Amino acid sequence: MVEFKDLGLRSDILRAIEERGYTTPTPIQELAIPYVLMDRDLMACAQTGTGKTAGFCLPMLEILSTGGAKARMPRSLILEPTRELAAQVAENFAVYGKHLNFTAVLLTGGKGMEEQIKKLDRGVDVLIATPGRMIDLFERGNILLHDIRIFVIDEADRMLDMGFIPDVEKIAGLLPKLRQTLFFSATLLPEIRALAGKFLRNPKEVSVAPPATTAATVAQYLLHVSPRGKREALRGLLRRETLKNAFIFCNRKRDVRTLAESLTRHKFSVVALHGDMPQNRRDEALEKFRSGAVPFLVCSDVAARGLDIKGVDAVFNFDVPFNAEDYVHRIGRTGRAGREGHAYTFVAPDDDRLLANIVALIRKDIPVMEGFEPRPDALVPAGDEEPADEDFVSRHKQRAGRRERGGWEHDRHPRGHGSRRSARKPAPAESRAPRPGTGPGAPTIGFGDDMPRFLVKPRARAGQRKEETV
Ligand code: AMP
Repeated sequence: MVEFKDLGLRSDILRAIEERGYTTPTPIQELAIPYVLMDRDLMACAQTGTGKTAGFCLPMLEILSTGGAKARMPRSLILEPTRELAAQVAENFAVYGKHLNFTAVLLTGGKGMEEQIKKLDRGVDVLIATPGRMIDLFERGNILLHDIRIFVIDEADRMLDMGFIPDVEKIAGLLPKLRQTLFFSATLLPEIRALAGKFLRNPKEVSVAPPATTAATVAQYLLHVSPRGKREALRGLLRRETLKNAFIFCNRKRDVRTLAESLTRHKFSVVALHGDMPQNRRDEALEKFRSGAVPFLVCSDVAARGLDIKGVDAVFNFDVPFNAEDYVHRIGRTGRAGREGHAYTFVAPDDDRLLANIVALIRKDIPVMEGFEPRPDALVPAGDEEPADEDFVSRHKQRAGRRERGGWEHDRHPRGHGSRRSARKPAPAESRAPRPGTGPGAPTIGFGDDMPRFLVKPRARAGQRKEETV
C-alpha cells in the first residue's frame, strides 16, 4: 500500500498531513502527486470528495517550497469557478503548508480589492482566483503573470457550464508558454477533452471515478409531487425525517430566495445561498450552516458546488436538476467519507424527461419513496402556498416548450446540455409512468393530487423552531 512518505513530499508537508489526521493517500492523490512532481501536465478526472484538492496542493507546495516570490509576480495560479471553492482551496494550502514559509492569496470578487492588492505586492506563491476578479486585477496592472510556473484549472466541467471558458482561455494566453498545467474535471466527456487539449502539453491522464457514479452510501428516493404541493411535501419530510442538517437545492436563484422565505415563515431554521447574494452574506450563510447553527441550506447548484461540509445527513432536490451531472454533484454532498446519506428528489409531471436523463446517466433506477402517497386535495389548506407557485406552473410550461426547442433557462448555465443528454437511453417505465391525475391532459385542481399521507400528522424535527399547523 502506498503511503504519503512514498510520494516524494518533504518532511514539513508530511508532518502537516499527519497532524491533519490523514494516514493514506486517496487514489487520486496516489495517482496524481508523482506526475505533478515530475513536472508533467495532468488531465485528471476526479470529483470533489475524492481528495483531489490535496492531489494538487501537496505537490505544488513541494515544488514551490524552493525559491521565493517577487512583488506582484505570483508563482502559480489556480482558477476556481466559485468563490466558495476558491476559499476551500486556500484553506487546504493553509493546512498543508503550515510548516512552510508559503503565501497563498485568495483573489475573488465580493471582497475588498485593496487588501488583495496589498498582499500581491508582498509576493505570492500561489494565487487562487475566480476568473473574473483575476482578469480585473490583471487589467488594472496589479498582477504580472510571467512568473507563473504552475497553472491549475479546477472544476473545468463547471467552468464550461458557467460560461467561464473564454475567461480561462484569455488568462491562459497571458501565462508563460513554458509552464506546467493541471486540469481537473468531474467528467471527461468529448467536449471537456477537446477543451483540455487547448491548455495541456502531452498530459498524463488519470481518472479515479467514472463520471456518473453516485455514492453507494447515499440512499436515493423519488417523490412524485404536483408543482403546487412541493413546498408542503418538503416541509412534511423535514419534519418526519430525523435530520441534523440538509442541503435543499433549487434550480433558480429566485426560487432559492422564495423557498427560503417560505420555510422561514413556516418556522424552519434555514439560510439561503445563491450567486446573486453579496459575498459577506454568502460567507455568513455558509458559516451558519457549516457550524451547525442553522440546519438547512437552501441553495443553487453554482453556490453549493463542491462545498466540503462534513456529516451532511440529506440532500433534497426541490427541483430536478436540469443537467443530469448536477444530480450526481448534488447528492454527493451527503454520504461522504463512508457515512450514510439520503437524497430526496421531488418530481413534478413535467420533470419526466429530466429524470430519464438522470436515470440513464447513473445507470440505476431511483426507488419511489414508500409512505409517500397521494392525498386528496381537500386536506391541503387553501392559501398555504404563495402566488409564486402559480408562476412556477407557468414557468414549468414555458420551460417544457423551451426544452422542445433545445434551450434552457438556468442561472449561469448558458450553454445547456439538453441536446446532448437526449440521446441517452430512456428511463424505465416506472419512472416515466404518469401518476394518477398527472398524465398528459390531466387538470391540476387545487393543490394537486400528490400530497403525502404523512403530512396529516406532522412531528417536530431538527430546524423547526416551533410546531406549526399544516
Ligand atoms: P476534496 O475532494 O479535495 O474536496 O476532498 C474531500 C475531503 O477529503 C476533504 O474533507 C479532505 O480534507 C479529505 N481528504 C483529502 N485527502 C485525504 C486523505 N488522504 N485521507 C482522508 N481524507 C482526505
